[in-house]
Amino acid sequence: MSPTTNGLPGTAAVLPDTVWEPDPPRPHTPGHRPIRRVAVLSVHTSPLDQPGTGDAGGMNVYIVEVSRRLADLGVEVEIFTRATSREQPPSVEMHPGVTVRHVTCGPLEALPKEDLPAQLCAFTHGVLLAEAERPPGAYDVIHSHYWLSGQVGWLAKQRWGVPLVHSAHTLAKVKNASLAAGDRPEPRARIIGEEQVTSAADRLIASTPIEARDLVEQYGAEPERVAVVEPGVDLDVFTPPARATAGAERAAARRRLGLPTTGLIVAFIGRIQPLKAPDVLLRAAAELRRTDPALADTVTTVIVGGPSGSGLDRPTALIDLAASLRLSESVRFLPPLPRARLADLYRAADLVAVPSYNESFGLVAIEAQACGTPVVAAAVGGLVTAVRDGVSGLLVAGHDPVVWARVLRDLLASPDRRAQLSAGAVEHARGFSWDRTASGLLAAYRSAVADHRALALGNLDLIRPRVVLNGTRVNGTQANGARVNGARP
Ligand code: UDP
Repeated sequence: MSPTTNGLPGTAAVLPDTVWEPDPPRPHTPGHRPIRRVAVLSVHTSPLDQPGTGDAGGMNVYIVEVSRRLADLGVEVEIFTRATSREQPPSVEMHPGVTVRHVTCGPLEALPKEDLPAQLCAFTHGVLLAEAERPPGAYDVIHSHYWLSGQVGWLAKQRWGVPLVHSAHTLAKVKNASLAAGDRPEPRARIIGEEQVTSAADRLIASTPIEARDLVEQYGAEPERVAVVEPGVDLDVFTPPARATAGAERAAARRRLGLPTTGLIVAFIGRIQPLKAPDVLLRAAAELRRTDPALADTVTTVIVGGPSGSGLDRPTALIDLAASLRLSESVRFLPPLPRARLADLYRAADLVAVPSYNESFGLVAIEAQACGTPVVAAAVGGLVTAVRDGVSGLLVAGHDPVVWARVLRDLLASPDRRAQLSAGAVEHARGFSWDRTASGLLAAYRSAVADHRALALGNLDLIRPRVVLNGTRVNGTQANGARVNGARP
């Protein structure tokens, strides 16, 4: 295999090798229009939900954070999500310039994701109706999150004549290729739905070059339509303790959370499901107890989050596992925590473990590092970007609890190494910010709108051939076989 332009193994694909930067107005888009309003589609989960349980997780945080920042940049954001309770008003102002619209479709209660495809028609109806009640041209662009929303965006984009920007967040083919033993694979209907959205979207937002490559190689995305925009972290909420008072701050954080003020803490934070592999951490803790009981006696494992996905089939499975491994005394389970309490938890921990089988990015990893806590993560997907191996934490190959126990033991036994990684973690996390993510998205919106308008001209060109776009003819493929931006087969 030859390296790609991103330096990753794989067939050479022309992928963006850096974060998408704002682009200047394009010469072929006369009257380059600013983006005034974005319709954000989030069918299956609301940005108002508490992340860390059920279907609420990183995607919710992502939508909240970028919407706030886009609004601060002067772009109005309207987020459409499914109404799940009678108490929800039709719309809520989440932040000045950001409105959450509750679309009634199906029962006013939470539905499992598997049941949502049957409600997509009703959801789309609600979205189209909302737009129809406004003056024409209300939205400049649609940004859909997760494939279910992408299906809605596909129709809305055609109805409104605006481009569709899509974020997959996770991809079924990638998930299915690295399932935990016994975990339920994603259904074929989802794969088909994702393929449809991939080909319908004008821009696909990938969190990392690896996700970009997956979109191109596994879903046939046109490389020119894939933009790599890294997620961020709120560096005002997730802050490291002051060096001089770090010990005292950690003890105070532990007290606030009701955790032991002495000894070591290894934390897992996230939705409890086999994909996230919290069981690997528990098994590693049991292995540590077997191989180094003196050290293990000083360690508390803290698990934060609620059941989700296939983890809902057996919501007490992890508690049962801790009991069967005789770890009940040294493991603490906490419910999902709001942001400020979560920052306390990161600061209270000596290490954060992210043993997932797959992550498209892994916000928990970057938040923990922003709080100065080194991360031990599986060397998969976006975690390879989120953690700088040997600098801000350690990446572990595979999910063997014996290997995980060895890595954890080495770090837990070495305060100096942890301090070194802690400094590297803070430094690494500083490179990520939601402001940068928002401007990356805005640039992608602008270029999608520009190409969409050029495409409209290109379509006219079907009647009057030979229009030129950026010096390249809009009627086929370039010499290297890549399709020209905006050109459709
Ligand atoms: N989270 C939270 N409270 C919790 C657990 C998680 O607010 O108790 C948030 C966490 O801060 C992070 C997100 O949920 O921003 C999880 O994102 P991640 O990318 O780690 O995983 P995902 O949920 O996307 O699979």
